[in-house]
Amino acid sequence: MNIALLLQASVVMLGTGTPNPDPEHSGPAVAVVVNGAAYLVDAGPGVVRRAAAAAKRYDLTGLRAKNLGIVFLTHLHSDHTAGLPDLIHTGWVAERERPLRVYGPPGTRDMAMHLTSAWQEDIEVRTEGDQPHTRDGWKVEAHDIRAGIVYQDSNVVVRAFAVPHSNWKHAFGYRFETKDRVIVISGDTRPSDAVVEACHGCDLLVHEVYSAERYATLSAEWQKYHAGSHTSTRELAVLAGRATPARLVLYHQLYWGATDDDLLREIRQAGYGGVVVAGRDLERYP
Ligand SMILES: [Zn+2]
Ligand SMILES: [Zn+2]
Repeated sequence: MNIALLLQASVVMLGTGTPNPDPEHSGPAVAVVVNGAAYLVDAGPGVVRRAAAAAKRYDLTGLRAKNLGIVFLTHLHSDHTAGLPDLIHTGWVAERERPLRVYGPPGTRDMAMHLTSAWQEDIEVRTEGDQPHTRDGWKVEAHDIRAGIVYQDSNVVVRAFAVPHSNWKHAFGYRFETKDRVIVISGDTRPSDAVVEACHGCDLLVHEVYSAERYATLSAEWQKYHAGSHTSTRELAVLAGRATPARLVLYHQLYWGATDDDLLREIRQAGYGGVVVAGRDLERYP
């Protein structure tokens, strides 16, 4: 593989799923990989094992459990956070040296504290017995964030932007800016100008979606919920037309019986002519 490709920022879909326990779609989690380092967005169930699978497939050491050192949570819905204790504790057992860094909406610090105390017995047994262990790997450095730049280092500048998602007071999308790429991840959101502004001709827009056709088959209660929480194919077609990403990747697909081909067809029929692919677990997008 040529070196430019190795250095180029990319996105690996660790999980494209939703709360539905579909084995083809692990819990929502995306890795932005820059210079070999992985920056996770969300920690759905299965995140550590999917990361291990991606580490193997792409020979990316940054995705091995011990090297998963930082995660940005879009919101605290359980489908996006049920893998957090896995990240904390499996990473430690795999010999992560430093505390896991977690950035997320208000409530993130509390969640991290409770997860650590929930596994207190485990932590004591491992640190006080004769099991070899790193001293600080079980710890969590959690940050409750607001919209704006929330993190930067020599690889990335990460900006959180507020998105509207059901009745959550705080839900975010994230914009990653690297030397060669702008990558935007919508999180869970109904159609939002904030995503359009964050992308604005970005290289990669990873956006959640549901089937507009199958939506018609849902009960009135569920229609109301999803309309206030998520983005339909037709809405996404309009939104992406304004955001003009070089490539649109669908994730967190709510199918209700539709297929990825149906979702892509619905988006095209709604008038979107740009490059669009249906995200699949373990796919990598430059
Ligand atoms: Zn979700
Ligand atoms: Zn959600």
